[in-house]
Amino acid sequence: MKTIGLIGGMSWESTALYYAAINREISKRKGGLHSAPILLHSVDFAPIAEQQSSHDWDGLGNAMAESAKRLEAAGAEAIFLATNTMHNVAHRIEAATDLPFIHIADPTADALLADGYDKVGLLGTAFTMEMPFYIDRLREKGLDVLVPEVDRTNLSGIIYNELCKGIVSDQSRAVYVKAINLMMARGAQAVILGCTEITMLIGDDDSPIPTFDTTALHATAAADFILS
Ligand code: GLU
Repeated sequence: MKTIGLIGGMSWESTALYYAAINREISKRKGGLHSAPILLHSVDFAPIAEQQSSHDWDGLGNAMAESAKRLEAAGAEAIFLATNTMHNVAHRIEAATDLPFIHIADPTADALLADGYDKVGLLGTAFTMEMPFYIDRLREKGLDVLVPEVDRTNLSGIIYNELCKGIVSDQSRAVYVKAINLMMARGAQAVILGCTEITMLIGDDDSPIPTFDTTALHATAAADFILS
């Protein structure tokens, strides 16, 4: 099996989901006591979140490039970045090492298209819903992407103030379900859970349209690489 390098801690709540999902997938496919060879670099999220708020993307690019280099030096054979938002500096990781880098939006778009969806809603942090790095990548793959027209600050705040701290509430679930309903009314056939913590809050049972969980899809891509 190949060894992956996982840049995590953004937040650790979702990195824990990645760790479990990748291992479950390897266990399922290989059986017995097999588990996933993973090198994890888990960062302190507080300064990262502050740099996001102040739009210090250059500083964040430096931090992610450094993390990728450390994983490469430790023996990683590919790099996975366990957060959608930080893919805004994906190019800095790609420039820092020669290792394959599997962008979280790619397995997500592939799964949607394979299931026949081409008009999708996107939920995530304000950065992911409002900056071009994520939506453009999905559009290049052939998807028509809708983002919520209202409540984006609240949707994003729920991620940082609650989900990243492990807080899951019915009240916040209702905010997310309302956002999905509004995008469905605008033509969304499915919705991307484009933040690695949203799967803690909602899933197919809560949503009127199918949900595509980026954490699970990226973790499956990691398992694919490990077994390739
Ligand atoms: N994990 C989240 C994401 O997938 C948000 C935390 C972050 O800003 O990295 O976007």
